[in-house]
Amino acid sequence: MVVGSLSPSRAGDFMTCPLLYRFRVIDRIPERPSAAAVRGTLVHAVLERLFDLPAGARTPAAALEMLGPEWERLLEAEPGLAELFEEGDAGEAERAEWLAQARRMVERYFTLEDPRRLEPAERELFVEAVLESGLKLRGYIDRVDVAPSGDVRIVDYKTGTAPRADFEARALFQMKFYALVLWRLRGRVPRLLQLMYLGNGEILRYEPDEADLRATQRKVEALWQAIRRAMDTGEWRARAGRLCDWCDHKERCPEFGGTPPPLPVGPVHRPSPADLEGSADPAGAGPGRGAGLGGGAREHDDL
Ligand code: SF4
Repeated sequence: MVVGSLSPSRAGDFMTCPLLYRFRVIDRIPERPSAAAVRGTLVHAVLERLFDLPAGARTPAAALEMLGPEWERLLEAEPGLAELFEEGDAGEAERAEWLAQARRMVERYFTLEDPRRLEPAERELFVEAVLESGLKLRGYIDRVDVAPSGDVRIVDYKTGTAPRADFEARALFQMKFYALVLWRLRGRVPRLLQLMYLGNGEILRYEPDEADLRATQRKVEALWQAIRRAMDTGEWRARAGRLCDWCDHKERCPEFGGTPPPLPVGPVHRPSPADLEGSADPAGAGPGRGAGLGGGAREHDDL
C-alpha cells in the first residue's frame, strides 16, 4: 500500500524549512513565479527540444533561435507569466536583461558539451518507484544517457552557479534520489550523476554505488517519518536561512512577525501526487521552483 509520496523538491523544502513545506503541500498556498524560476523553465525547455533536431543541427544558433518560440509556448500555457515584467520602459529593460541572461545560459551550455555527439535515451523523464515501506518516490529527470555498455548517466541542468564545497552534498541529494528511483526501476545503479551549472559553466560529477543509494533511501525514509510526525502533531517549525530572501510566505511566517493561517480542517492531508510535481534542487540556493508554474510548464527550482 502506498502511504505517501515524495519528490526531491518537496523533500528539499522540508529539509530547508518544515514550515515552507507546510505552506506548499498542506496549505497549498499559491506562490508568484519568480523571473529566475521561469527563466530556468525556459532554458530547460530549450535544452530539451534541442535534441529533437537532427544531431548535426544542434548548434548554438539553433538553440538560441528556440528561446523566442519556447517563451511564447510557456506564455500560451500560462498567460499570467506575462505579468512577470511591468509595462513600460523599466519593465521592458528588465525583460530584455532576463532574456539576455537566458541566452548566456544557453550559450554556456555549449561550452560544457557538444550535443551533436550525444543521443539522450530520455529527456524530461518522469520516474516513480514505491519503496518497501510504501513510500512512493517520484520526480522528473532532465536527461538520461545510456552508453553502449548499458551504463547510465543521469544529467540535470542547473541555471544557477555550482555550490560551494560544503553545499555539494545537498546538491547531490537530488541526483542520488533519482539514482535510487532508477535503480529500483531498472535494477542497475546509474554509473554517473552529472550536474551542469549553466550559471557559471561548471560540471559536478559523482559516481554513486549501492551503499550510497541505500543511505539515500534511509535518509528519505527518515525524512518521511519526520513529515508524518509534523502532520500528526501539527508542528511545522520555521527554519530561517538564506532561502527566506526568496520565500513567498514571509508575511505569514513567525520568523518575520507573521502568523500562519489555521491548518486546513478535516482529515490530515497526505501529499498526493499532484502536490509533488517537479524535480528538485534542494541545494539550489534560491527560490523554490515554483509553485505557480502550471499549465504545462514544469517547475525548475534549480537556481
Ligand atoms: S520565510 Fe524562511 S523561515 Fe519563513 S517559511 Fe519561508 S523559508 Fe521558512
